[in-house]
Amino acid sequence: MNEKSFEYIVSACLAGEECRYDCKAKPQKRVIDLVNEGKALSVCPEQMGGLPTPRPATEEVQTLVFKNEDGTDVTKEFLKGATEASLLAKSHNVQTALLKSKSPMCGYGKVYDGNFSGNLTEGNGLFSRMLEQLGIKIEEVD
Ligand code: SF4
Repeated sequence: MNEKSFEYIVSACLAGEECRYDCKAKPQKRVIDLVNEGKALSVCPEQMGGLPTPRPATEEVQTLVFKNEDGTDVTKEFLKGATEASLLAKSHNVQTALLKSKSPMCGYGKVYDGNFSGNLTEGNGLFSRMLEQLGIKIEEVD
């Protein structure tokens, strides 16, 4: 089966979808244009993992353990969403990802440190890590 190819995969919140934990979007014109031109596939891996919107903020509290601010463990949902979104990227021959900065799922280069303190640390979100393993180039968009 031939899947349509997309040059890019993008964080849906950058494409204007109100899919963030706080039900807001972070629209970026470059990303919206790529989606409208049919060059970019827009995904929200947290929603794909079955998490609702709005939802509590999540951080990676230990390596590969993701928890909400209220202590609920959402690692299973994170793994499901990141895996499904990565498989979509692979099956559509994506070359480049434009991902929302600082997110525990999409962040690249720096993410929140797991203490819900607002402090950042070096690291990548779960989806970014999976895309990197597939050899997809990642650009962080703030
Ligand atoms: Fe945006 Fe990614 Fe968070 Fe979804 S998971 S709201 S696409 S940063």
